[in-house]
Amino acid sequence: MTTSLHICIIGAGPGGLCLAQGLRKHGISFEVVEKDAALASRSQGYRLRIDHTGQTALAACLPADLYDYFQRTCALPSAQVNTLNTQLETLADKWVKDWRLDKTGTDAAPDLKADRLALREVLLTGLQEHVHFNKNLSDYTEQANGKILARFEDGSNCLADILVAADGIHSRVRALRFPDLTPQDTGSICIYGKTAYSTKITVQVAAELQNATTIIFANEMAAVIDAMKFDNAKRSNTNSGLISPVSNYLYWALIGKRSSFGLQTDQPLPATGLTIRNCLTQTTASWATKLQTLFQLTPAEALALLPVRTARTMPVWDTHRITALGDASHAMSPASGLGANSALYDAAALANAIRQIHAGAITIKDAIRNYEKQVRQHSFAAVSASQEGSTQLFGSEDRPSD
Ligand SMILES: Cc1cc2nc3c(=O)[nH]c(=O)nc-3n(C[C@H](O)[C@H](O)[C@H](O)COP(=O)(O)OP(=O)(O)OC[C@H]3O[C@@H](n4cnc5c(N)ncnc54)[C@H](O)[C@@H]3O)c2cc1C
Repeated sequence: MTTSLHICIIGAGPGGLCLAQGLRKHGISFEVVEKDAALASRSQGYRLRIDHTGQTALAACLPADLYDYFQRTCALPSAQVNTLNTQLETLADKWVKDWRLDKTGTDAAPDLKADRLALREVLLTGLQEHVHFNKNLSDYTEQANGKILARFEDGSNCLADILVAADGIHSRVRALRFPDLTPQDTGSICIYGKTAYSTKITVQVAAELQNATTIIFANEMAAVIDAMKFDNAKRSNTNSGLISPVSNYLYWALIGKRSSFGLQTDQPLPATGLTIRNCLTQTTASWATKLQTLFQLTPAEALALLPVRTARTMPVWDTHRITALGDASHAMSPASGLGANSALYDAAALANAIRQIHAGAITIKDAIRNYEKQVRQHSFAAVSASQEGSTQLFGSEDRPSD
């Protein structure tokens, strides 16, 4: 006999939507609540490296045809991988352990280069009537019968058997329940952007960057540059109405200590396209011209800067009716590209746990406790790996700075 359940997921990021797909697959009732007006409301990173873990989780949660379609929306594999210095000279023996761009040495699938918006659009496919945009969680209360009543700023609410915090690094649920467990600033920052291919890019940006994945090792800082070229014939299919068209672009991200960008620890961070561009121009002034040009040709509205934050420890969610996934519970440095992959891993693990509750095989308490144990083991290893990735990229671990 199945147990009737309703799950309320706060946040329509990759983690929340992947969980929703997993629940839909198992016929479990859910709703997703997202504070933004639409998936494309904010430019929150552009390309996501989806590794074997992320691919396995997506394949488990999505219907087979949708997973197949997701793979076809990804950028074409890079023709080459460059490890270079800022003068575009090749460096030997530099790498980030967690990146796998080919099949060398293992049977696991190589990493995919997903466009973040396309991934979320694929994940939204078929869920539209269950995903409510423009709804910001304000708080929640626990009812006498154990259920959780989530309340939203527009006055509406949702009564859930399980409330899932999938609301990212600034999680409102975590802030309400564990105000002391806000992820800590590591002292590093990340500036990122994307530049559409154009004649100027072809002529003025170094040729070796244009079809490749490139890592530039600078002084206490690194840049990742990825060619995002899409096969539009593969991207179009019967689901194509749900996927926004995308032009080929060069994605890039710089990461390093504030000081390597000429910023003091207590100085406010550049927050507008203009001030971010000024910081970028000063930081890369001595770099090869054909590299600097890539940053200069990025439109101001495509530039973003974030402080790098990391979790210290995963909260012990002492009520089994409220749990968390992804950045809400284990924010990490983007240095190794593991955050979204971990969120997807959590989503698949939680979908499986809820499936067992639904099937009447286990109590909510035991299933959620098992899930959280699994996440602590897996995703906190990813937090540590991301700190290590920072050391490999720019010689300094992204650990909390205080
Ligand atoms: C520059 C950069 C590059 C990165 N590259 C990679 C990579 O290559 N590979 C990788 O694995 N990871 C990468 N990451 C990390 C990755 O982006 C995150 O780990 C991932 O997005 C976390 O997913 P999530 O679903 O947990 O949270 P999020 O993606 O943050 O989604 C949370 C959602 O919750 C919503 N929300 C927040 N508060 C509320 C509220 N109160 N009510 C309702 N909704 C709310 C938000 O609007 C958002 O849509 C990168 C990060 C950055 C910054």
